[in-house]
Amino acid sequence: MKRADLQKPLQHHQFASDNYAGICPEAMQAMAEANRGYASSYGDDYWTGKACERLRELFETDCEVFFVFNGTAANSLALASLCQSYHSIICHEMAHIETDECGASEFFSNGTKVLLVHGENGKVDLGEIEHTVQRRTDIHYPKPRALSITQATELGTVYTVDEMQAIGEVARRFSLRIHMDGARFANAIASLNVAPKEITWKAGVDVLCFGGTKNGFAMGEAVIFFNRELAFEFDYRCKQAGQLASKMRYLAAPWIGTLESGAWLRHAAHANACARKLEKELQSIAGIRVMFPCQANSVFLEMPPTLMEALRNRGWHFYTFIGSGGARFMCSWETSDADIAALVKDIRELVQQNT
Ligand SMILES: *Cc1c(COP(=O)(O)O)cnc(C)c1O
Repeated sequence: MKRADLQKPLQHHQFASDNYAGICPEAMQAMAEANRGYASSYGDDYWTGKACERLRELFETDCEVFFVFNGTAANSLALASLCQSYHSIICHEMAHIETDECGASEFFSNGTKVLLVHGENGKVDLGEIEHTVQRRTDIHYPKPRALSITQATELGTVYTVDEMQAIGEVARRFSLRIHMDGARFANAIASLNVAPKEITWKAGVDVLCFGGTKNGFAMGEAVIFFNRELAFEFDYRCKQAGQLASKMRYLAAPWIGTLESGAWLRHAAHANACARKLEKELQSIAGIRVMFPCQANSVFLEMPPTLMEALRNRGWHFYTFIGSGGARFMCSWETSDADIAALVKDIRELVQQNT
């Protein structure tokens, strides 16, 4: 770890990531409630049981639910349970499992190869999936077994219900199991305004990694197996990977607090609305360009490097390593109208100075 910057305990001007935001009040309160007294450890407690039930209600099906600390573990352990080591996983070239998980999917699956496909706006191209499966059927090729879909995508777009159904059909045709990286699943649901089952098990998704962290938890993701058979011995996988929380009630409680209050959807809708507002304000500024349709909580901008530098000098944080070189501005449950107004004002001023 780097040495801490002791001068700046709190940072403002945050559009770097939704995981820069704090813990939302509903998650915090639920943890405080779970904090009264003793509870059994390793998931054998009231809170964990209740959180599983709330998730089963949300998805309207009897799924198997597990809680892990972070998204990389959720994705890679889930994928490992869909594949043998001689199989392959098909995903988009921008997929987090490919670009941002340090090879964890290959590691936890003991070498299952990740095969990449292209596709507009961060979404997999179905023709390319078909080609990837069919170009080789001999024993020397890593047999495609899983298809990993990110919803909402790394580029802030969202697969529609129809698109998910089409993906499900392709997967069925080629006997591919579907994994959904839902680090921003709540943002996708808020964007589509559909029941969660419509873009998951009804479309053939076998396992969903449902993100809590970026939607206002201290930490924690739920791994949800709609195909219950695939969850066989998943608890052992979690334990071996160091992902079986002994005080699991604190990973579980935020799900109860945010699901029962509806905050999970409200916060995601708020973050989406902030991104849309930011997009709208920025569209009128000459010299910068919004790169992808804004369907979730991020806005990607193409802008001159000098402008990026000038923004950073004014204290703004944003990422430029995700996607294809643009500047990503990510909104969260905590983003305020004032944050957006201040960012837009600075961009406007700097653009004017440079022209
Ligand atoms: C943030 C994120 C994850 C999870 O990342 P962790 O840092 O491991 O929690 C997974 N997928 C996507 C698309 C993400 O944006």
